[in-house]
Amino acid sequence: MKYSLKIFKVFGIPVELHISFLLLMLVIYAVALSNSVTSVNLATAVLITLVFVTVVLHELSHSYVAQRYGVVIKRIILLPIGGISEMEELPKDPSQELRIALAGPLVNFVIAGISYPFFLILGNSVSADVSFLIYYFIFVNLLLGAFNLLPAFPMDGGRVLRAFLAERMNFIRATELAATIGKQLAILMAIVGIFIFLNPFLVLIAIFVYMGAEQEYRTVLVNSLLAGLHVRDIMTSEVKTVNPKDSVTDVLKIMFQYKHMGYPVSQDEDLVGIITFHDLSRVPEDERNLPVEGFMTRKLLVTDPEEDVALTLEKLNRNKVGRLPVLTEGKLVGIVSKTDIMKALDMMKTRASE
Ligand SMILES: [Zn+2]
Repeated sequence: MKYSLKIFKVFGIPVELHISFLLLMLVIYAVALSNSVTSVNLATAVLITLVFVTVVLHELSHSYVAQRYGVVIKRIILLPIGGISEMEELPKDPSQELRIALAGPLVNFVIAGISYPFFLILGNSVSADVSFLIYYFIFVNLLLGAFNLLPAFPMDGGRVLRAFLAERMNFIRATELAATIGKQLAILMAIVGIFIFLNPFLVLIAIFVYMGAEQEYRTVLVNSLLAGLHVRDIMTSEVKTVNPKDSVTDVLKIMFQYKHMGYPVSQDEDLVGIITFHDLSRVPEDERNLPVEGFMTRKLLVTDPEEDVALTLEKLNRNKVGRLPVLTEGKLVGIVSKTDIMKALDMMKTRASE
């Protein structure tokens, strides 16, 4: 995620703080420590700090259990609306996902349970502010634990629901159902946030849940449809290449003639770049006699025939490019485009529904 700062590393997992969270905390501290300092402001700052620690512990417990099942955690991101543990892949077994999902809210309930005796013992011997602080800390933890257990996929409770469903039906269908329920609950959450609690955070969470549900369902669907498919199965083997010295006009002609929007640029059998219609359409009229080498992309992203198509698709999306040259031992053997992958997806979809 953009705009986040790495603050520390636990169990080898980088923990990142999103800039919006940092700003919010700074504002709260600034108010608390300003001249008009009141004990209530100070208590709020302490409480926010404690809640911050709680959110970190919640995410760490998801990550700890996930790592025990061999799932790699890329990072933990802390946002004002909660934390996200980014997993490299999903655990294979639904019962593992269930345990990973439950570990987070469990931490909140355990913290609330541990804090309660302090509230009872210290309740009368400390100032009203401190007593209120402990009380509120317990309340926040119970709330966080319960809220995360709402069955709004991809929140923790939604993951529990998906795991429960996946034990009873296939994984895609389970994800689809959980995502549909997640999206409906997100709409409800937004309505409640706007009209009842007037709470912008709740609305933000609702938007996150809605988009997250949709995105995770798509990823699961696409990955399962593309499973077992390799680049060699869908790539175009007879690749038309262009020469770096060819003029923009000539290459544009080739593009219209062959109706492909991108070509590898090669010189003496060596791949030196890739040129797309997008690159050339921006070249002004009076510069179209120049060679294409001045407009091509030289930083080359490539794939190989044995790579999983799902992985190649992720590469294309991540780098926002439309096609990748396919290389074997440094030699160009084909080209694969996003259109090729979309066609393959359509065919797999048709096959799956037959
Ligand atoms: Zn969680």
